Amino acid sequence: MTTRRQTFRLYPNKTQENQLFVARRNHAYLYNACVAHRRYKWRANKKTVTYFEQQNCLPAFKKEWVEFADLHSQSLQATVKRVDLAYGGFFQGLRRLPKFKSIRNYSGWSYPAKSGWKVNSNGKHGSVTLNDLGITIKMRGKAKQWGIPTTLTIAYKPGRNQWFTSITVDIPTVECKFGSQSDLSYESIVAFDLGTQTAITLYDGEEFTELENPRFTQKSEQKIKRKSKALRRKVAPNRSKRIKGSRRWKKARKQISKLQRKVSNQRSNWQHKVTSDIASRYDIGVTEQLNTKGMTRKAKKGSKRKKQKAGLNKSILSVGFGALNKMIAYKIEQKGGLMLILPTKQIKPSQRCPECGVVHKHWAELSNRYHICDACGFEIPRDKGSVMVMYNVATKAQPGFGTSLEDCGCLSSTNLTRKRKHTGSMQQLGQMKRQKSCRKSDGISETPSVYTAG
Ligand SMILES: [Zn+2]
Repeated sequence: MTTRRQTFRLYPNKTQENQLFVARRNHAYLYNACVAHRRYKWRANKKTVTYFEQQNCLPAFKKEWVEFADLHSQSLQATVKRVDLAYGGFFQGLRRLPKFKSIRNYSGWSYPAKSGWKVNSNGKHGSVTLNDLGITIKMRGKAKQWGIPTTLTIAYKPGRNQWFTSITVDIPTVECKFGSQSDLSYESIVAFDLGTQTAITLYDGEEFTELENPRFTQKSEQKIKRKSKALRRKVAPNRSKRIKGSRRWKKARKQISKLQRKVSNQRSNWQHKVTSDIASRYDIGVTEQLNTKGMTRKAKKGSKRKKQKAGLNKSILSVGFGALNKMIAYKIEQKGGLMLILPTKQIKPSQRCPECGVVHKHWAELSNRYHICDACGFEIPRDKGSVMVMYNVATKAQPGFGTSLEDCGCLSSTNLTRKRKHTGSMQQLGQMKRQKSCRKSDGISETPSVYTAG
């Protein structure tokens, strides 16, 4: 089973929208109450409050504050869990200390399991029923793939004044048509490389295809710059001086966010078109492992090429390398194809000659756009050369030491997404709960909770 997230736009009527706003406000209050609880306990006796302690408070909390009794208990737990996740990230040094959240920016809430809600849809439009609010809201949108809905999240976008629902669905995994590496059929195999000047370079054994990089950001950047300058001239809100943002300031800010939204929509539209086209034509995709984080790192201090690096970073981010790779991978795998991710450091596609396999160190420099091999005299533009090497590796035709598929190991798309540090999901919580109840039944007393101390 694979899990996919599908987003639909909600169209609540006036009374429904008011109910949604009330629920959102209550969830924001609960979030802030949990943050306050943790802060208070820490200040009072240097104790960290755990998720379970807060979760066990919920029934009493609901008795005191009756408006929470109507909300679904699991969705309240999910909000408490959000606080726990935020603190978990803080303890691991991944983010700053969680702050109180303003109701204005609070996004929404979620139902972490299958109860309390229902989706009436077959992947296109339909409606969603929230049992705790007792409402059925119309929704519009089309899912690329539809399956069994498992979780539901309601989100509000304040800038747009729009409501969305994001549904995770379980989809049966499509079996890979290619069993082992030895019986790869080479009929429709494509090697591709992502670059900044040509966004994608493809090679399918016969011809090269180069896809131009659409510079959406560059085009709209000037517009955004001009508008930002106009925004700076308007009266901005200042909390400490108790100045409210002017009406013109609000208007200008809206225009900027609209432009930025347009750019991001253009980008994702282009990405989906291109990747769907590639995935529909080929069964096996070959590419190299990317290190976008290192690629887009800021130029070293005092570096002469600071501006150049900044420009490069911008165009890398403008195309969205990581997203493109992932899209091609999941689209190919969804139809039963195979994705090979070659280890860059081992293969060195951009330094290796596709003809004789000799590695040239000076080819690595980005300014070297055209490569001529000293050993065999083979000439090829840089990007085309590296896709050719990757294609040859996949078809086992690349000369050179340690470049066969067996040597580098066939990597699948799971290697594309680098493992992130996890701060504990709902699933892991369930496991912890089970462990706890086991310990209790063994007769071993638990450590006294914070409440007896405080
Ligand atoms: Zn050569």
